[in-house]
Amino acid sequence: ERTTPLDLLRADFPALDQEIRPGVRLTYLDNAATTLKPWPVIRAVQAFDAEYPANVHRGIHALSERATEAYELARAKVARFIGAEDPEQVIWTRGTTESINLVAQSWGRAFLKEGDEVVLSDLEHHANLVPWQMLAKERGLTLRFAEITEDGRLEPEAVERVMTDRTRVVAISAMSNVLGTVVPLEPIVAMAHERGAIVVVDGAQGVPHRAIDVSAIGADFLAFSGHKMCGPTGVGVLYGKREHLEAMPPAWGGGSMVMRVTRESSEWNDLPYKFEPGTPPIAQAIGLGAAVDYLSKLDSGAVAAHERGLMEHAHRRLSAIEGVRILGPSPEHKGGIVGMDVEGVHPHDLAQLLDREGVAIRAGQHCAMPLHQKLGLAASGRASAYLYNTTEDVDRLADAVDRARHLFKDRRPRR
Ligand code: PMP
Repeated sequence: ERTTPLDLLRADFPALDQEIRPGVRLTYLDNAATTLKPWPVIRAVQAFDAEYPANVHRGIHALSERATEAYELARAKVARFIGAEDPEQVIWTRGTTESINLVAQSWGRAFLKEGDEVVLSDLEHHANLVPWQMLAKERGLTLRFAEITEDGRLEPEAVERVMTDRTRVVAISAMSNVLGTVVPLEPIVAMAHERGAIVVVDGAQGVPHRAIDVSAIGADFLAFSGHKMCGPTGVGVLYGKREHLEAMPPAWGGGSMVMRVTRESSEWNDLPYKFEPGTPPIAQAIGLGAAVDYLSKLDSGAVAAHERGLMEHAHRRLSAIEGVRILGPSPEHKGGIVGMDVEGVHPHDLAQLLDREGVAIRAGQHCAMPLHQKLGLAASGRASAYLYNTTEDVDRLADAVDRARHLFKDRRPRR
């Protein structure tokens, strides 16, 4: 069996080491939905709750100061992780969904007008589609969709084809949560900027898998979620270029986001607080800081190679099973996600049969209904790997898929 040094990391993730039912060990391959948490993240959250569970930026007392320090340190860590110039450009949100809504509702409402166009792609998750639909309806915008290739890749030329002189926003996923497709962001950003459009990157899948450097890519906004990168649920990030964040009005009002308040009006606080009304997700942000520390200590090249190896193995094993169609591009064009359609087996049945063997995958439309319509599928199965998955996990997946396929094949009515 092939093993990698990354196998050693498994001990850091307590949830990996369990039987989901007596005698059935867990094989966790639902990482695109959410990842497991390593001890340093669990301990960081626990330390906050146990030792200094105070509110931030308010109390002039020791616990509040300690909480504020840890919370702002986490922001600085996340800023460094994505190559942001300044921690003030990292806005805490509840996750990718809220981050994209914030851009649409704040930047979009302030700067888009009737007839303006927003370019999206076939690959988009509902989180990077519905907020734009809502804004389009309100403001009379046109949405245009860059089409994927037959094998599920997104070529920069496809984006270029739908750009016009009315394009103001290109909102694009860095990596598809259904097909695993990695999108070539740099040429897309360059083309958009040439035309004076801004680029909003949905990094929910991209950031966890290959650290995105916003300075290198030049994206105007980047949205991502803590829980898909070893961090807690309930916290995410919106990164924005300073000029945009300065120009944007707040989307929500409340405490902390204001400097001075009278009965009639208010003055906004500075970045990043202008966008963070109310008590923020303090424990979660501190946990995300710990997650970023954890990921930063790993060799990102080795992690990428490990995930590539897992995908190559998954493609080899799954494509050898009769009736299994792998969705999306070949491993060199994607991250650690393998979408599949198994002839004669509904994805929900597939997921249920796999679960009996302890193999956790996801089945359904994965919040990407238009993509499934394009693929001509009612639903799909999705296995998604992360740094702690092993070749043996992929083998257990393939063996279970093989058994599911046979079970249904044998059951099919004969004519
Ligand atoms: N975009 C993509 C590509 C995703 O995979 C997800 C999560 N499935 C989201 C956006 C939404 O993330 P969240 O639910 O954490 O807001």
